[in-house]
Formats: sequence, C-alpha cells, structure tokens
Amino acid sequence: MMNMLIKDKHSKNVIMESGTTKPQEPEVYRGQNDVYPAFSNAVSVKYNETEGRHAVAGSDVPIGKVLLTERAYASFLLSEYSHSHCTNCFVRLVAPLPCPDCLRVAFCGEICKTTALKSYHAIECSVLPALFSADVSVPCLIALRIITQRPLKYFLDLRPKLLNHTQRPRNKHQPDNYVNLYNLVTHREKRSLEDILHRTHLAAFYLSCLKKTNYFAVDCNTGGQPTDDELFIGCLLLHHLMLLQINAFEVGELGDDQDTVLIGGSIYPTLALLNHSCDPCIARYHRGTTVVIHNIRELRAGEAITENYGPMYMYHSKEERQKTLKNSYWFECNCIACRQDWPTWEQMKTDTSLRIRCINCKNAIIVTTGSIAFAVQCTVCSKTTNLLPILQALKGADNTFLVAKQLIGQHNYEKALSKLIALLSLLHKHMVPPFKDYQLCQQGISQCIMTLGYKF
Ligand SMILES: [Zn+2]
Ligand SMILES: [Zn+2]
Ligand SMILES: [Zn+2]
Ligand SMILES: [Zn+2]
Repeated sequence: MMNMLIKDKHSKNVIMESGTTKPQEPEVYRGQNDVYPAFSNAVSVKYNETEGRHAVAGSDVPIGKVLLTERAYASFLLSEYSHSHCTNCFVRLVAPLPCPDCLRVAFCGEICKTTALKSYHAIECSVLPALFSADVSVPCLIALRIITQRPLKYFLDLRPKLLNHTQRPRNKHQPDNYVNLYNLVTHREKRSLEDILHRTHLAAFYLSCLKKTNYFAVDCNTGGQPTDDELFIGCLLLHHLMLLQINAFEVGELGDDQDTVLIGGSIYPTLALLNHSCDPCIARYHRGTTVVIHNIRELRAGEAITENYGPMYMYHSKEERQKTLKNSYWFECNCIACRQDWPTWEQMKTDTSLRIRCINCKNAIIVTTGSIAFAVQCTVCSKTTNLLPILQALKGADNTFLVAKQLIGQHNYEKALSKLIALLSLLHKHMVPPFKDYQLCQQGISQCIMTLGYKF
C-alpha cells in the first residue's frame, strides 16, 4: 500500500515527471523502533489494564526530536480538494491526471493513479457521487476505504486471526498490517445500544453501496438475503466505524496565512497508540498523507508521550475537559493538568507569582512578586532555595522571547526554534509549569516545528 511514497530515504524532495513535488519523510530520532517501526528507538510501548497500550520515552529525549513518522493505513481527501490535491497522496496537483471514468478524482502522477485504479478507486468510482451527495463524513469514508483498498479474499483469509481481538502487542507492529489496525480500541462494551444501532445502520448503508460495485464478485442467489461474506464485511465496517470515531486523525496542510487547513483524514495504527493529555508533549504535521510528530518539551525516561484528543487545559476548565473526554472517549483524564487542576490561560495570564523549582526536591515553591526574600523554603522538603542566582539566570529570558517572536515574524523559523528551545530548557531548569512564559515558549516551539514541517 501507499508505494507512491517509497523512495530513496537519503534523497531530497522528489520532483515527479508531472512537476509535482513528493515530500521527503524525516527519519526518526535514533533509528526505528524494533517492534514499532514507525516509532523512534527512544519510544517504548507499555501495556497495563487502565491505560491499555501507551507510549513512554525509553530514554531522555531533548526537545524537537522526530519520535514518529508513519504512512497512513488509509486516507480520504475532502471532496472540495479533489481537483487541487492528489486523491492518493494528498500533494498539491501541478499537472493532474484524471480517472478515465469519472471527474471525481485526480492524481499527481502515474504511480498514484495506478495505485488507486488498481485498488480502492476500481471499487469506489461508481459510488463516489452517491457518497459525496449523501454528505458522508470523512471517518465513515475511511471506514469504507479500509475495505475497498484490499480485495475481499484478503479479509476472508485473515478472518481466523481477527477472532482473537486483543490490545496486547504480539508480533512486530507493521503499520500496514490490517490486524494491527483491527486491534485498536473501539470501546464497544461501553457504548449505548443507540450508538451501536446508529453505527449498524451506517454500516448497512455502506455495505449496500459496496454491493452495487464489483467488490463481491460472485453473485449467489440468496433471495435478497446478504451472503456470509457480505455479513462478515458488514461487521468489519461496523468495527471500523467504532474504531475510527476514536482513532482517526485530521490531515492538514499549511494555508496561505500560515494556519493549518483541514484537507482530509487518515488512520495511523501506531500514532493511535498515544494516550491523551490536556497538556500534550508533541506537535504533529503531515507530509502528504504521512504524519510526523516531534516532542515540544524535554522528555525524561519513562515519561508518557501524549497527544491531545480535543480539550486543552489552556482553553477549557477541568470540568469541561472531563465531560468532553467522558462523552466522546469514555475515560476519566488523569493527566497532570487534571490531577493538579492547572489554571486556564485566562487565569494564568494575570498571575504574577513565580513557580520556582526547589533545588532539592524539584517541586514548585510559589513566590509572590511583592516578596523581598532572597531565599525561600520548600513546603514539601523544607530545604531552602536561594533566589538570587535563579533570578540572575532568568534575567534575559523576556528579551530572548521577544527576539524569537521577531524571528517568527520574519519567517526565520529555524533560528527562532533554536532560541525557543534554549529558553524553554532554561525556564524548565529553574521553574515549574504551568506558568505563562513557559506556555508561550512551548507554543512558539510547536508553531516553528509545524511550519518547518509543513513547508518541507
Ligand atoms: Zn499522488
Ligand atoms: Zn473514477
Ligand atoms: Zn487531563
Ligand atoms: Zn523541596
């Protein structure tokens, strides 16, 4: 699958005959992980009953390293981009190649065209108009694409392996192996009857679309009743609809005003293993349909590597976040921002106190700016921390941040990034988040990584 993106890993961006630029995929930090090849060797996947499979740092990781590069298992481009972007790899079109039978899709070159026409588009070509006019959502279209990109026989042969649905890692986690995708969580047991019934109706609709194509080649006379194979594929569609609701990702590109614009959706079986935090430690961007993540702060060995599923502590109160996560993802968030009930951005903005790091136990010592003390006592370990050398070290921090902001304004993201990385390390050494400057600095790092990543 997705062989259109395979190329010499040492090459720069590849210019195709059609004039389209194929983006280079960055290599992961310290080489590929042995069991989860999309992850870096600095990432370790753990398992426990409460958190399921989840990723942690296997060693200390400096800021800004590539922790994952993963090609999409399946993707779907939004219909409004079908004439400006390649249906197969999502790159912008220069000299589009159309499908010989419809006007619904276009490709960047012969490789993408052949890949699509020999797999999913051979099935979807006749039903795309119906799906687009029914305003089918992207996760639902991906649920169908997971089926159409592989022949029926592929799923029938895998059937015995799918009966033993498990979260526990077994063999090498190849991102293009359907079994790894199938084993992602669905929270089926936590869903209401209404939820399952609604998705069963959707699965039945997509199954009826598939039956209008040549996907099920043999036409058995069953008197209108679905065949065993059709029922099996219908069950897989239902399974996909449940797992995509939780695990699908939006795919974006950098718009003209430097904002991320949503162009489609994808499913990444390895990226989907990251758990949620209301204060995530990664920035994510796409190159075509490939996703790349970098850490936006230093990671200590054993620290969780986390994504954000929607609610951020900066913009939503703990109560709002817990409600959203419970309703859509069926879990109670236990991230540090929820455990310590961190202030939102609005509350943090006006707080002028300093959260100094205790030199002994590393906990926060709150110092009000009106205080004239030169040494402060930690309420956790009772040891005293001398403030003068810390304030001396932090003296130039405001100015460094302003310089970095100017560099961003001048689109010099590389230089801005190195300044912000040094600043965040300094802030982290002497102070304990959450506080305003730390968040601004981390946001700046995220912005630089994403802009540099999208621009390739
Ligand atoms: Zn393409
Ligand atoms: Zn077509
Ligand atoms: Zn949380
Ligand atoms: Zn202490």
